[in-house]
Amino acid sequence: MRYPESLLKLARALSRLPGIGPKTAQKLSLHLAFHREEAEELERALTGLKALGVCRICGNLAEGELCPICQDETRDRSVIAVVETVSDLFALERSGEFHGLYHVLGGALNPLEGVGPRELNLESLWARLSGVEEVVLATSMTVEGEATALFLAEELKRRGIRASRLAYGLPVGGSLEYVDEVTLGRALEGRKPL
Ligand SMILES: [Zn+2]
Repeated sequence: MRYPESLLKLARALSRLPGIGPKTAQKLSLHLAFHREEAEELERALTGLKALGVCRICGNLAEGELCPICQDETRDRSVIAVVETVSDLFALERSGEFHGLYHVLGGALNPLEGVGPRELNLESLWARLSGVEEVVLATSMTVEGEATALFLAEELKRRGIRASRLAYGLPVGGSLEYVDEVTLGRALEGRKPL
């Protein structure tokens, strides 16, 4: 039998999402076809995403010029944690152990893939260092993440800023977003100067 085109389109779009195979996509699209209220709620939520941009200061997701963290007056402005992605930022936030600000690089140095310092969100990091006492290098424990941390440590040293690196317990080769809150909290507490 032939499915209606609108249903096929929806299933195709859903199957492109991470973790959703063709069968689940078909099930979800049928579910939404028969539950219009849920479909409309989803539609409104998706439309709301259009208003989402990038924070002018740190590169986190933001609904206005600044993200909620940069706007939060209670955060410690003397410490910045540098992360590769917004997912990593969320992971550190979930640990509840970090009370400073963030800076999202948008990746890690990877010369083979053509990612050099210019491809990362770095100029805006150098521009926001006044009043900052410590930069926590919270890049991944991968070859690229380690290389990025070493590069940043050198650059920060030249600028007279203390750099530290997340410590023990983090799996080598792993991305922060998959590490549990407790381990991440401990790694943050036990950070080492670089
Ligand atoms: Zn921000």
